[in-house]
Amino acid sequence: MSQEPHNPESAVEADTDTSAAVPRRNGRSKGVASPIQASHSLEDVIVNRVHSDAARLGLTTLDRVGNTPLLRFDRITRDLPGITLLGKAEWFNPGGSVKDRAASRIISEGRRSGRFSSDKTLLDSTSGNTGIAYAMFGAAEGFPVTLCMPENVSIERKHILHAYGANIVYTDPAEGSDGAIRVARELHAKHPDKYFYADQYSNDANWQAHYYGTANEIWQQTEGRVTHFVSMLGTSGTFVGTSRRLKELNPKIRCISLQPDSPFHGIEGAKHMASAIVPKIYDPTLADEDLGISTEDSYAMAIRLAREEGLLVGISAASAIVGSLQVARRLKPGEQAVFVAILPDSGDKYLSERFWEEG
Ligand code: PLP
Repeated sequence: MSQEPHNPESAVEADTDTSAAVPRRNGRSKGVASPIQASHSLEDVIVNRVHSDAARLGLTTLDRVGNTPLLRFDRITRDLPGITLLGKAEWFNPGGSVKDRAASRIISEGRRSGRFSSDKTLLDSTSGNTGIAYAMFGAAEGFPVTLCMPENVSIERKHILHAYGANIVYTDPAEGSDGAIRVARELHAKHPDKYFYADQYSNDANWQAHYYGTANEIWQQTEGRVTHFVSMLGTSGTFVGTSRRLKELNPKIRCISLQPDSPFHGIEGAKHMASAIVPKIYDPTLADEDLGISTEDSYAMAIRLAREEGLLVGISAASAIVGSLQVARRLKPGEQAVFVAILPDSGDKYLSERFWEEG
């Protein structure tokens, strides 16, 4: 795996670069010439000012990636004094999931390196959320997108991808996300000049999106008080990038990765590493603990979070809360700890699942 040196200074700088867009979203950008210098009459000054200021009003799709809120779960931690449980609400990203972060960096790195030239179609395999992110950015920026995905992804995801106008190649549901990876590789091998193969499983821009973004946001939002970080593994980009940076900021932070506890599971977006094609970017040495989470416990937690906290979260988000509570219950009674769990998406895309009726 090729990696940039993990220089905390450079990470802060890069993060400042990215998040510097925030205060400037509706304000003035650095280096923009004053309209007074560029005009002659008062009328010109006023017209130019209206136009140049108007051009900076509102947010673009890209502007809305990252800086997601941290939610606090008070009711489900009632019996755990000393534990603060926080969830990073990634559905606040414009495409509704954590994967907007990886997709936007993969696209911008592809453009910067020249690999994603303007004549190419973006190609990748995806279990859904990354595909939604690619399709959304493709629509917003005007490039074509082809996605390979297992036929059995939720109907809501299929409708969203269709709405954004992406081209979808359905793959054998029995082969899961690995089948989709194989088909994407074949397509790229057949037409290397047609496609930019984004390859989220091997692309360093995936974990870097979290190294420069998610981790620094968590650090700032918890005022450096985070003690435990918990995340489900899919491509592993979220866990790897965030843990790598958090451990630089404070090596004592415990980083806990989660996986489905069996190869056959209902946790969309998650990977059972022992039985899957292991992503190139995965670095298991970053995890202080790796826990197997059951689909049934995740379903039950999704229902609990809806009914006790008033929050509709996706299944892998519910898994992250199950994992956080498992670790929290093992701490000494009353021990102070601040858990941050990644909530990759909301429950909206899973409402057709039967478990809601059974709860
Ligand atoms: N949860 C959901 C719902 C996802 O869609 C994904 C990835 O697609 C993940 C978790 C895992 O995130 P990562 O790929 O960064 O490991």
